[in-house]
Amino acid sequence: MHEIYLDNNATTKIDEEVLNAMLPYLKSEFGNPSSLYSMGTKVKEEIDKSRKSVADLIGAKQEEIIFTSCASESNVTAIMNAIRSNEGKKHIITTKVEHASIMETMHYLEGKGYEITYLSVDENGNIDLSELENSIREDTVLIAVMMANNEIGNIYPASEIGKIAKEHDILFHVDAVQAVGKIKIDVEKIICDTLSISAHKIHGPKGIGVLYVRDGIPFIPLIFGHQEDNRRGGTENTAYIVGLGVAARRLLEHMDEDNKRIERLRDKLEDEIISSLDGVLIYGDKKNRMPNTSSISFLGVDANELMFMLEGFNIYVSTGSACNSREAEPSHVLKAMNADLDKYSPIRVSLSEYTTEDEIDEFVKKVINIVTMLRHKNK
Ligand code: PLP
Repeated sequence: MHEIYLDNNATTKIDEEVLNAMLPYLKSEFGNPSSLYSMGTKVKEEIDKSRKSVADLIGAKQEEIIFTSCASESNVTAIMNAIRSNEGKKHIITTKVEHASIMETMHYLEGKGYEITYLSVDENGNIDLSELENSIREDTVLIAVMMANNEIGNIYPASEIGKIAKEHDILFHVDAVQAVGKIKIDVEKIICDTLSISAHKIHGPKGIGVLYVRDGIPFIPLIFGHQEDNRRGGTENTAYIVGLGVAARRLLEHMDEDNKRIERLRDKLEDEIISSLDGVLIYGDKKNRMPNTSSISFLGVDANELMFMLEGFNIYVSTGSACNSREAEPSHVLKAMNADLDKYSPIRVSLSEYTTEDEIDEFVKKVINIVTMLRHKNK
């Protein structure tokens, strides 16, 4: 049976062109990019080509791109760099809806005597910039706010936050893992100091990430070594870097067009479900949302039950972020929004450039049937 994969915020299918570009570097082109002979220099050139594609994608300079093992590493590196290069400053501002790699680092730092302000979100998942401004202190070292949320799709006002951070001379880190490829990113407009990206959310391989570090800011590596201009040790993961470069270039070529189509399909999905079923609630900011994401719930229907029934038809969605969907605890994002999860527990549907209209039609049909059946059964 044909698989309908609608969990692209968890991870994406690797693109054929990306895979084909990677294969030689797992076979014949195995030279170490640090070697001075041609087997190495050839590989180094390919790494630099990828660096350029990634830099172009976010409006950065090549020298500002550091390859890491994943965006979690990038996030932790950015936070640890901020505090290590500003000893004495003990306050950080973040939000209640960040990814675990940010949240867990903040919890660790609290244990080490740092004070963390977690900005609240309203019932639509939005933050309040005046709360952010009021939280700023003399000893605030870092503001870390994601560009778009993985669960509800909300887009956060990165440029406004960047301005506030600059006015107060505070470092600004942006987790752009979900945003990349779905909305335009320009580090000059955002005026962030550091920014994270992951390849596996953009049809690249898992286990390769990027940390953008603004030219001129002090930088202390998390992993010491001479690679990446002494900023991240470890022999370069050549094949994966090449794959990420191709994934970035593909986005540059057609992301605007793809996103228009994806948004139309997402809106069609929501409209058709709403016009066929009562008691449908969509979480997040309907206007200011990534084009591919729908966090959709059905009064009285348990999201896990719905998810597993969809799986029976080879349709894959999630009930929260992939990173915590195995935990019994409800999502920290929905909790922060004060969501009534006993009544409305959402499935997250996330589309990609590979999603077809036929797949969306099939998904809508199955959801309507299953929800109707579950509601009847539970009467
Ligand atoms: N940040 C956000 C918002 C994410 O959604 C994810 C992955 O789910 C990450 C960071 C971590 O990315 P990686 O899997 O590359 O560590």
